[in-house]
Amino acid sequence: MKTAIYDILMSGRNPDEAFSDARFFALCISHRAMARKGNISVALGLEIRQLSHLFSRYFPRIAASRSTAQCTKVYLHSAAGGTFLCQCLGKKNKASARNEETGDLVKLLLDQRASVNQATEWVAAILATGCLGDDHLWQDLGLTNREDLSDVIKRHFPGLYFKNTGNMKWKKFFYKQLCDQAEVRLCQAPSCNVCNDYAQCFGPEDASGWNLLAAQG
Ligand code: SF4
Repeated sequence: MKTAIYDILMSGRNPDEAFSDARFFALCISHRAMARKGNISVALGLEIRQLSHLFSRYFPRIAASRSTAQCTKVYLHSAAGGTFLCQCLGKKNKASARNEETGDLVKLLLDQRASVNQATEWVAAILATGCLGDDHLWQDLGLTNREDLSDVIKRHFPGLYFKNTGNMKWKKFFYKQLCDQAEVRLCQAPSCNVCNDYAQCFGPEDASGWNLLAAQG
């Protein structure tokens, strides 16, 4: 179903907008649409009006055919030929206790943005919220591999991309930047080269079996 939702989004994408950004948003939206519970905009880290604007700009066919009163997740599943049994029971998502953390991450990203652009702000919010997950960041976002993530960071936040000269895992790298900015030192070793945790920060971010089809759930 994740692939079907991705296909529905991309088949109605706005050809005037960059394919790479449409693909990134479609992957993230289709991934979050698979969660049993929770508002999709909250899962993405976007306000409802931001997600509506994103749909209008990148996926206008979906935006035009959907009633604003309808749950986005229910709509996406039905548009893709499936059914989705919402388990939210009308409850609103609780505000995350980690809002301050995501705010710091968004600021870190936007301080290094390539240009002032709403799409870049949406990408920053989605990346920052993805950092709250437990897996590699590219997995928590629903991307197909680490390169997808590196590409979007390079396009929207080139200052951060080129600063990661050691190819540190992105989630680790973002938090390391926040620690450095706050002059907080959590590392036990004097340098990465002699650190016992080197593999945790710089090891490969592969995940065998993880791809768009395997992630359909
Ligand atoms: S490898 Fe060790 S020293 Fe380097 S950032 Fe990671 S924890 Fe800190």
